[in-house]
Amino acid sequence: MENLMDGFRRFRETYFEDHRRLFEALAAKGQNPKVLLIGCCDSRVDPAIIFDAQPGEMFVLRNVANLVPPYAPDQGHHGTSAAVEFAVCGLEVEHIVVLGHARCGGVRALIEGSTGAETDFVSGWMHIARSARDRALALTLSAGQPIEAARRMCEQETVAISLGNLMTFPWIREKVEQGRLMLHGWFFDLDSGELFRLDPISNTFLAV
Ligand SMILES: [Zn+2]
Repeated sequence: MENLMDGFRRFRETYFEDHRRLFEALAAKGQNPKVLLIGCCDSRVDPAIIFDAQPGEMFVLRNVANLVPPYAPDQGHHGTSAAVEFAVCGLEVEHIVVLGHARCGGVRALIEGSTGAETDFVSGWMHIARSARDRALALTLSAGQPIEAARRMCEQETVAISLGNLMTFPWIREKVEQGRLMLHGWFFDLDSGELFRLDPISNTFLAV
């Protein structure tokens, strides 16, 4: 924990002082980010670091495996859907980016089937990506590819699944169809540091 306190001191003395006007403006006027970024909780893929973003620039939502559940307005505690609603309907962001990443622990557990009954929440959450897992395993194993290929395919599929589920939210679909909101699928390979974007025409990830 001492590292964090040291880090805060450095932040307070340098970054905060260097950006004092920005923080004052954000405090006085409120936030007005144009981008909602949905990423994974994984400590290695911090969106603010990857995109060198300033405070106020991105509204960031992180959860296990960057998943968005289907639209389901009921009495459940929908943390992800609540954040999406606030960003889209409250902040009126103009872009939603779903950022997947390589070596995702959530996807690894899903592929290797280790999210069994032993977890209280993770297995149920990862169920959102179950179809991706089945597809990835069927495609790669029938082609004689190793389990790593299935993992990579599933990691990228989580992005497509989240984008598809975002379109089940009626106020997102409406804004997308009116051209007031754009959805993007990106993938960060933390081994090589490369970023890929999902091309909607070919439905494949292309290097940026
Ligand atoms: Zn992850």
